[in-house]
Amino acid sequence: MANLLLTRRCVRTCPYCFARDHMSTNDLHAEVSWEDLIYVVDFFESSGEKRLSLLGGEPLLHRHFPDMVLYLLQRGFQVTVFTSAAIPQELTDSLRHFLPTDPEIPLDFVCNLNEPTLSPKKENECVEYFLEQFGTKCGPGFNIYRPDFDLTFLFDLVNRYGLKRHLRLGLAAPIPGADNQCLSISSIRPAMKRLLSFSEDFARNRLQIGLDCGFTLCSFTDEELGKLFKISSPLNFGCGPAIDIGPDMMVWSCFPLSRLAPRSLYEFSSLEELLDHFRSQMNDIRAEAGGIHYECDECQQREIKRCEGGCAAHILKAMKDEPFIRLPEINKCLQNL
Ligand code: SF4
Ligand code: SF4
Repeated sequence: MANLLLTRRCVRTCPYCFARDHMSTNDLHAEVSWEDLIYVVDFFESSGEKRLSLLGGEPLLHRHFPDMVLYLLQRGFQVTVFTSAAIPQELTDSLRHFLPTDPEIPLDFVCNLNEPTLSPKKENECVEYFLEQFGTKCGPGFNIYRPDFDLTFLFDLVNRYGLKRHLRLGLAAPIPGADNQCLSISSIRPAMKRLLSFSEDFARNRLQIGLDCGFTLCSFTDEELGKLFKISSPLNFGCGPAIDIGPDMMVWSCFPLSRLAPRSLYEFSSLEELLDHFRSQMNDIRAEAGGIHYECDECQQREIKRCEGGCAAHILKAMKDEPFIRLPEINKCLQNL
């Protein structure tokens, strides 16, 4: 499933934000136009893909958000909206008026929640108001960007607002050449131990984990993998391409790699062609360095494709200080970072 950035505007300033390169308040191309939305829908439909994720910034801030969602639904698309849910209450009221909440309608929200103790009180109030209105259409999301995170608040919100019992768990990735907070390679292991310290809470609250990209198999012991298996939807130790389309129709593999030779959607004639291009870009990176550890080069789990070797953005970040020469296109981008 690909992601369309509806707007570059946001309501939060998360320290780990990996989209910050694309955020702007006064850019002429800060929002997707109707013409481009219709082009994207036609492009995906003709490629046989009827699922689309809407991202931002904060997608709910797009001036035509409800109409665009209704249009996608009317065209038979399954729509997932990634939101902070931290929007003003009047906007939530207006969306509640226009958007369907019937469970049968294929419109869902993944609410990327930050720890309330680290967020402004007003923001927390807005999030809770949104969850109160749309709870049954929402699943929680959480991005790990430091090893001492606390998930206790999530279980409370899931139960209080009847959220979907599936947590989309992300690992904050570095943006090569930028300065967002993320988990360093050496803090992945402690962060995974911390995650597993909540395993009984996940089981007791019937909350399943869905690992996003960038997790690594060897950051868990065998015993921990057993515990993780019991509280997760199918385990995933992969790495993109995710396919993000900006409001100006530029496409890149995923946010952290967005400085790496982005292309225009108009250059491709199908989703398959676009995926092939970015898969090949990813293969080029992996040909230079297999994964985030030296051991990845010889790892059997990588050979059998059970683990891709971690987030390619970590590899590029390391390569920035030690540029390679085999792939001129990537090398040129690294020098420009
Ligand atoms: S490089 Fe791979 S793991 Fe890292 S954010 Fe992109 S798709 Fe995910
Ligand atoms: S491929 Fe790399 S990250 Fe994955 S399990 Fe093997 S050594 Fe670990």
